[in-house]
Amino acid sequence: MEQQKRIGIIGGGLAGVFAARQLMTEGYAVEIIEKSQSVGGRMATRRIDEGTADHGAVFFTVRTDELAQEVDEWLEQGLVRKWFGDDFPRYVAVNGMNQLVQSIARGIPVHLNEQVERILAEGPALQTTAAAETRTYDAILLTAPVPQAYDLLSASPLMLVESDHAHLGKVTFEPTFVGLFELEKSPDLGEIGLLDDGLVSGMLKIVNNAQKEVSATPLLSVYMTGDWSEVWYDKGEDETLAEIERLLQEQLGPVQLVSKQLKRWRYAQARDVFRTPYLKLEQHPLWLAGDAFLDPKDTSGRTRVESAVISGLRVASAMDTHFKAVLTEQ
Ligand SMILES: Cc1cc2nc3c(=O)[nH]c(=O)nc-3n(C[C@H](O)[C@H](O)[C@H](O)COP(=O)(O)OP(=O)(O)OC[C@H]3O[C@@H](n4cnc5c(N)ncnc54)[C@H](O)[C@@H]3O)c2cc1C
Repeated sequence: MEQQKRIGIIGGGLAGVFAARQLMTEGYAVEIIEKSQSVGGRMATRRIDEGTADHGAVFFTVRTDELAQEVDEWLEQGLVRKWFGDDFPRYVAVNGMNQLVQSIARGIPVHLNEQVERILAEGPALQTTAAAETRTYDAILLTAPVPQAYDLLSASPLMLVESDHAHLGKVTFEPTFVGLFELEKSPDLGEIGLLDDGLVSGMLKIVNNAQKEVSATPLLSVYMTGDWSEVWYDKGEDETLAEIERLLQEQLGPVQLVSKQLKRWRYAQARDVFRTPYLKLEQHPLWLAGDAFLDPKDTSGRTRVESAVISGLRVASAMDTHFKAVLTEQ
């Protein structure tokens, strides 16, 4: 009897979790290796005192039947709700975006707090090495943001051919800074609690997590533009947070703060994307997927929740097809 294939998935964001779930259904032995203390990646939520603030993805929209089907189930299970919008409704997770990914990942074996430092070829197999662990797999799926994935591959003694370098080197990401402000009382951010128009220079969005119904307390997530975040990237945290606070007061008028925090995303969204939902290295059983790998039919051209989900599903099918073809050849 053919032995169950072992697949290691680096990264427990949406792409990794959706790929894992599908590969497990197809009968593979799957493990996710995640460097953070929980799965979710850029579906990120922070508890602040009695409140909750999303500081990665704000909402998501649905253009594909595959995600629409998932969303119908999530609505039924009470995991998500429609926030606003009719043509392309904006959906949010009821307990914060991170909780949604944790719910989907239930039952998938995950190694948390493990940052893969290198990937080694061991005969036909691949090994991941982290500070304290070495793990061996028949194939690896790498779902870190592309520049991070490329750094990891470059630090590994693998055979990368010219076309691998050409593909991976062309995608860059921009940073996003998010200021999290706990307020004495809820400011007026209009009917839905989202301001994304007519903001002071450098500011992209202000979200009131209380009006979004994820927080019991007034907590604002203030998203800065990629250009602003780039300029401020090397400055100190206190100075940066003070400047976001100054811009917030300029935008809203005086607000009474209870606390403030800063989240810096080095890799928030891709400046340019792949027009293929995944990539396979020429010389190794190693696939790459994630939000920057777009289905050719995706007309949005942007990295987002849906592109990560679809990339995860497509790469899982491709890996399954690959292993079934190998089996037929034997
Ligand atoms: C500030 C911000 C706002 C956004 N707003 C929206 C929005 O409103 N709507 C929308 O649709 N999308 C939005 N997005 C984009 C959306 O969040 C992403 O497209 C999606 O979550 C990406 O999923 P992913 O699985 O491709 O990558 P990620 O979520 O980045 O997952 C990759 C995972 O790999 C892990 N990892 C990386 N390297 C290693 C390693 N060496 N070893 C182990 N683990 C590793 C990381 O910790 C991470 O968990 C936003 C993103 C940000 C940052």
